Amino acid sequence: MKKFNLAREKFYGTKRGLETEYANFVYRCKKPLNNYPVLDPEKVLPLLLPAIESQITVREQARERNEFVPPPKNFQTWINNRCWEEESPSKAVREHKCCVCGKKANSRTSNDWFCSKVCHKKKLGW
Ligand SMILES: [Zn+2]
Repeated sequence: MKKFNLAREKFYGTKRGLETEYANFVYRCKKPLNNYPVLDPEKVLPLLLPAIESQITVREQARERNEFVPPPKNFQTWINNRCWEEESPSKAVREHKCCVCGKKANSRTSNDWFCSKVCHKKKLGW
């Protein structure tokens, strides 16, 4: 239950007490919603904390880019829907285009994206 509590404490949404959440977790592994497969709680436990940490990172990155960040689920819902299985959208790298030539950009100033220093200089009129 210690491992479960580390995940529970790290979780970024509303949560209830450890024993309540743990009981729900074990129950939902054995009696899943939506015809999900039955799981062994012991095997799922090590997945919870890394999933929560990566979701926190994804949310922070989205916030930094001023993108929509969905309101956090409560922990029970997160458990019931097996959100530790969510694939991280951060794996899909967002592409930006160079404002000069239209190629894939990899650096930016406050307003513009550039593929290279050459294009950056062009834009500045050097
Ligand atoms: Zn360019």
